[in-house]
Amino acid sequence: MRSLLREIERIANDVAKEERTVVVNTLKREAAEKYVENFHESLKILPSQVQDVRIVEIKDRRACACGGTHLKSTGKNRGYQSFEEGFQGQGHWKNSVFGKKVLS
Ligand SMILES: [Zn+2]
Repeated sequence: MRSLLREIERIANDVAKEERTVVVNTLKREAAEKYVENFHESLKILPSQVQDVRIVEIKDRRACACGGTHLKSTGKNRGYQSFEEGFQGQGHWKNSVFGKKVLS
């Protein structure tokens, strides 16, 4: 598990160094579904009554539905460390720890 966490940390830091723009758009559901399909994502888990979907894209890398706060560029991140601090042991991440690193 530790080596997998290190690999995730390395990839996250590589993306941060790339200084990719973070784009936020609100789209009609059908358009949003097509948009995220390009990134091998799906909106299947969104309740059917949700028709306007906020999509966050890390430019040309990943896009998904998200209502959260994001930096305008991955380069604003100061670097991820110690992912295991946020690991709760059952496959869940403690977002507060992760978010603190992102916003610091
Ligand atoms: Zn998000």
